[in-house]
Amino acid sequence: MTEPAVRTAACSCGQLRICTTGAPSVVSSCHCLECQRRTGSPFGAQAFFSRAAIVAIEGERSTYRRQADSGAWLAFHFCPKCGSTVF
Ligand SMILES: [Zn+2]
Ligand SMILES: [Zn+2]
Repeated sequence: MTEPAVRTAACSCGQLRICTTGAPSVVSSCHCLECQRRTGSPFGAQAFFSRAAIVAIEGERSTYRRQADSGAWLAFHFCPKCGSTVF
């Protein structure tokens, strides 16, 4: 299977978008309470890309930061209009 040259993720209303190139370094799902709260579902599923893989970020965004149990800080960028977390 060939990898698409560019992947695009977008929020529900489509105004916030991120484009990446290449394959994700990690794809995971998580059922911790924070992921359940963030997604409103039993699991959060996510693909991780290196910063160098980001081709473009377009649209308005709000950011929510929280500290993980590991001590690392995480930033979640979401659409202020429809509320979808995009990256
Ligand atoms: Zn939106
Ligand atoms: Zn989690």
